Amino acid sequence: MPLSRAFDYLPAAEGPPARPGSRVLVRFGPRRQTGLVLTHGSESELPVDKLKRCTATLDDEPLLDQDDLWLIRFTADYYHHPIGEVAAAALPALLRQGKPLHPTAQYLVITDAGEKTEIEALAKRAPRQAELLELLCDAGGNGVDVDTLTEQIPNWRRAARGLREKGLISQHETRLDDEPGPDGKGEPGPELNEDQCRAVEAIQRSDGFRAFLLDGVTGSGKTEVYLRLMREVIDAGRQVLILVPEIGLTPQLVSRLKHRLGIEPAVLHSGLTDLERLKSWRAARAGTAKLVVGTRSAVFTPMPGVGLIVVDEEHDHSFKQQEGLRYSARDLAIVRAKRRDVPVVLGSATPTLEMLHHCREGHYEHLRLPQRAGGARPPAVRLLDLNRSPALDGISEALAAAAATHLESGGQVLMFLNRRGFAPTLICAACGHIAECARCDSRMTVHAHDRSLRCHHCGSHRPLDDTCSECGSPVRRLGEGTQRLEETLARRFPEHSIQRIDSDSMQRKGAMHEALSRAEQGEADILVGTQMLSKGHHFPKLTLVGIVNADQGLFGADFRSSERLAQSIVQVAGRAGREDRPGEVLIQTAFPEHLFWQELIAGGYEQVAEDELAEREQTRWPPYTRLALLRSSAHRQGDAHAFLDAARKSIEKHSGEHVRVLGPVDAPMARKAGRYRAQLLVQSSDRRALHAILASLRPSLETGPAARKVRWSIDVDPIELW
Ligand code: ADP
Ligand code: ZN
Ligand code: ZN
Repeated sequence: MPLSRAFDYLPAAEGPPARPGSRVLVRFGPRRQTGLVLTHGSESELPVDKLKRCTATLDDEPLLDQDDLWLIRFTADYYHHPIGEVAAAALPALLRQGKPLHPTAQYLVITDAGEKTEIEALAKRAPRQAELLELLCDAGGNGVDVDTLTEQIPNWRRAARGLREKGLISQHETRLDDEPGPDGKGEPGPELNEDQCRAVEAIQRSDGFRAFLLDGVTGSGKTEVYLRLMREVIDAGRQVLILVPEIGLTPQLVSRLKHRLGIEPAVLHSGLTDLERLKSWRAARAGTAKLVVGTRSAVFTPMPGVGLIVVDEEHDHSFKQQEGLRYSARDLAIVRAKRRDVPVVLGSATPTLEMLHHCREGHYEHLRLPQRAGGARPPAVRLLDLNRSPALDGISEALAAAAATHLESGGQVLMFLNRRGFAPTLICAACGHIAECARCDSRMTVHAHDRSLRCHHCGSHRPLDDTCSECGSPVRRLGEGTQRLEETLARRFPEHSIQRIDSDSMQRKGAMHEALSRAEQGEADILVGTQMLSKGHHFPKLTLVGIVNADQGLFGADFRSSERLAQSIVQVAGRAGREDRPGEVLIQTAFPEHLFWQELIAGGYEQVAEDELAEREQTRWPPYTRLALLRSSAHRQGDAHAFLDAARKSIEKHSGEHVRVLGPVDAPMARKAGRYRAQLLVQSSDRRALHAILASLRPSLETGPAARKVRWSIDVDPIELW
C-alpha cells in the first residue's frame, strides 16, 4: 500500500531549489523516483542530517500552479487517499515517468549529397539503404521522424548508419512545439428558445462561482446552451473545461464543438497515445487550448485561464472512478470551480438526487428545459403486462407486434436490455441447478457465439455444457442476454437487418464506430443493446424503444435501484422520435401495478425523483446522510473480517452519536477471483464528523497488525454499495 503522506527532501545540490509544482528526481529507498514538489518548508520531523537531497530538478518552471496543487491536496484529503497517487493521477503518464514537458523527436533528413545519389545504383548494392534514401528524398527538407520510420521500414537503423557514414543523410533533434490552433468565428447555431435564453442569462449573471443544474429532457438543447456560454467565455480570452462520460466523448461531439466554435479543442481520454495526451495537456496548461474536452481524469488538467466548467450528463457513473483513487470527477469539478470562483454547469435529463437536493436546499440553481427544441414531440410511454402476454424468448407477442408495425412503416426499432450481467444464466430444468463460477460467488453468463460460460466478474470461462453437471439432464437458459435477443429477433424478422451493440460485440477497435454509424444512418432496422446505446447518440429513424427486462431493477438491493432504473429508461426513451416522427416506448413488466411504474408514467423522472427523495429522507440514505465504505479482501475470510472489526472498534472509540457503523459484512459478491471480500459502511448526517473519523482511522489502518494480510480501500461517497 502506498503511504498517505508526503516526504521531506532537501533541494538538489545544484541550481535554485525546485519550486512547488515542479518535478524532482529523488532516491526513495533503493529506487530512483520522480517526485512532485508540493511545498517548501523550513522545518521537518527529521533532523537535517537525516534528510536526503533531491538528485536533480526536472522542470525549470512549475508544471502545476498553486490552484492545481490545492486541488491535489484537497482530493487526497477528501478521499483519504495517498497524495502521491493523487499527484500521479493528475499528471500525464510521460510526465509521471520523468519525461520532459516538451519532448524532442529525432528526424532523419536527406543531405545535398544524398539528393544527388543514384538510387537505382545504390539499390543493387544495398537495397535497404536505397529504400530509406528514397523515402527521405520524397519527404524533402523536413525529414521523417523516427517513429514513422519504425512503422514504415523495419530495421531502418542499420541502413541509416550506412547512409550517415557516406554523408547522404543527417540526423536532427527537434523540440515538439505546439502551434496555436485556428481561431475562427465558427458557424452560427439556431436561435435559442425562451427556456434556453433564460438559462443562459441566469448563468451569465453569476458573478464568480455558482453551480447550475441544467435539467433538460433529451434533445432540449442543453448543448446549445453550453455552446453559447463557451463562445462568450472564449471571446473574453478565457478557457472552458467540459467533462463528458466515457461513452459520450464521440467524434460527433468533438466535431460539433469544433465547427461551432471555430477552434481546435484539446481532447483528453483513455484512447489516446501517451504523446497525444501530453500534447493536449500541454496546450491546456499553456492556455493555447481554449476548450478542453475530456473524460473523468481531465478534471485535474491545469488551465490557468479557466472561466467556465461544464459537466455533461452529470448522472453518468463513469465520472466516479471505481478503483484506486475513488474520486468523483463531477464533484471535483464543482470544488474546482468554487476555488477558481467561476460558474459550473451540470447538465442532465435525469439529474441525480444529490444534485436535486442541492437545488432544493438553495445551494445550486435549478434551470429547466422542459421541452424538446426544434419541435420534436416527447415519446408516448406504455407498459406491456407480461402476465397477459408472456415473453417467449424475451419478447412478448405485444412487443413483437408493435415492432412489426413500426418496421412496416419504415421506422427503426431499439430493443433495450437493462445492463449486462443480469442474464443469461444457465439453469437446469430438471433440478434447478444454476451454473456458477468456480472462483467467485457469481453466476456464469452464457455466451452463445463461442458456446462458453463466462464470469463477468473475474473473467474466468469454460465451455458451455449441454447437460447439467448436477443431474445430467439437458439444460436450458434462464433470462435473456443481448445475443439471445438478437437470435429471437432474427427468427421473428428474417427480412430485417439487426445490429447488436453491447460491450461484448464492441471489443474490436472501431467496431463501435461502425455499428453506430450503421445505426445512425438507418442501415440497421433493429438495434439490440445495453446502456451503451443510451447516451448521446442520435438515431433519426428510431421510432420504437422496447424495454425488455426492466423488472430486475424494481427489486434491486441498492438504495439507488429505483433512481437508476428511472435514469436508464428515461435516457434510452430519449432516443425515440427525435425528428418529425413521434416515438413510442414500450416497457415489458410482470408488475404493472408497481408504484414505480405509476409514477414514472404519470409524472416522469421528476415524479420518481421527488418520491425517492422523500423516501431517502425517511430512511436516512444519501443525499440526507453521507457514506463511506471501507472494503477489504484477503485469501482467508477471517482476515478480511478481522481487519474491519479492528476498524469498527477504532471508529466507535472516536465517534459520537452522529456516526453509524454497519457491518462488517461479506461483500455481496463475497468471493471474487479467489479472494474473500468484506465491507464496512460508515454513515453520518454530519460530513465533517465522518471525515474526521476517516482521517483518524487511516494511520491505524496502515500500520495495524491486520493490514498486512489484506487489501483494503476507502470509498468516500460510494455509488456502488453492493
Ligand atoms: P441536448 O444536448 O439537450 O440533447 P441539443 O443541444 O443537442 O440537445 O439539441 C438537440 C437538437 O435540437 C439539435 O439538433 C439542435 O441543433 C436542435 N436545437 C437545439 N436548440 C435549438 C433551437 N433553439 N432551435 C432549433 N433547434 C435547436
Ligand atoms: Zn468469477
Ligand atoms: Zn440438473
